Amino acid sequence: HAKALGRANFQFFTEQLNRAVTERFQLEAKLRKAVASEEFELWYQPLFEPQGDVMAVCAVEALLRWRTIDGELVSPGEFIPLAEETGMIVQIGDWVIAEACRQLEKWHAGGLESLRIAINLSARQLRDKGLPLRVEQLMKQHGLGAGAIEFEITESSVMEEPTQAIAVLDALKASGASLSIDDFGTGYSSLSYLKLFPLDRLKIDRSFVSDIEHDANDAAIVGAAVSLAHNLGLRVVAEGVESATQLERLTHLGCDELQGYHLCRPLPAAAVERFLRDNPAP
Ligand code: C2E
Ligand code: MG
Ligand code: MG
Ligand code: MG
Repeated sequence: HAKALGRANFQFFTEQLNRAVTERFQLEAKLRKAVASEEFELWYQPLFEPQGDVMAVCAVEALLRWRTIDGELVSPGEFIPLAEETGMIVQIGDWVIAEACRQLEKWHAGGLESLRIAINLSARQLRDKGLPLRVEQLMKQHGLGAGAIEFEITESSVMEEPTQAIAVLDALKASGASLSIDDFGTGYSSLSYLKLFPLDRLKIDRSFVSDIEHDANDAAIVGAAVSLAHNLGLRVVAEGVESATQLERLTHLGCDELQGYHLCRPLPAAAVERFLRDNPAP
């Protein structure tokens, strides 16, 4: 009896494994087609800075979406890991950077001259030695000056191959891009990279933001991160701001820029453009 049961379990397990492998294989094939026919769009979420008693938009973060041929919208969490594993992220990432530069040139020409765009980079892109030159060429082609584009990188993506990453980051910085550490506080890397990498901003992960009203530890961590960053000459961004109270706390703790659903959700290009026009910087 036990043997039969074991066999049944084993069969159940192989069936599950089979299904998982098949699904992954199908997703990979779909993603390859998506890369070839550029089934992607960028959504944009504004970043704000306090100016007097108003919040002014200073930047937008480009967030990738995959619009499948069935019209379904897929979030990056569902395909970026696979794109990373297979290397497709390099081509997808190049599309993201080119599209963001094209869009920013349009917005600059349309009167939003001081708008900055933040672009997320993955670990694989930080090993791509050709990236900085391609970025420099795109910036030239679209007339984007120093600081107009910013790259967001995570602690863990940098720590995968720190030496290669430093070389790429130095070159990106030399091309006029600025650099930001995303999801700060979630990796377990040492703080020493903060002085090794040519950073401009530190983006505090939303896990420290979500409970900041009730958790004194989170408030202490954010406060410490702000003073550390400011002492190193970095600006601080808080992400995942979902309420007016959080906004008030984070501003009070010295965060320079704020982003989150409470201020504005990620929007398609046309909608964010309308938002920017309706909320002009003072
Ligand atoms: P991220 O860079 O940390 O981006 C923030 C994520 O949090 C976005 O999810 C955004 O929609 C979401 N978010 C913004 N405000 C709030 C809020 O107030 N509350 C909550 N709960 N969430 C908020 P999204 O767009 O699904 O992106 C997820 C992640 O995928 C990004 O995290 C980033 O790591 C990655 N990603 C997005 N676009 C790209 C890309 O073009 N290239 C690469 N390599 N990664 C990307
Ligand atoms: Mg980001
Ligand atoms: Mg983030
Ligand atoms: Mg995050």
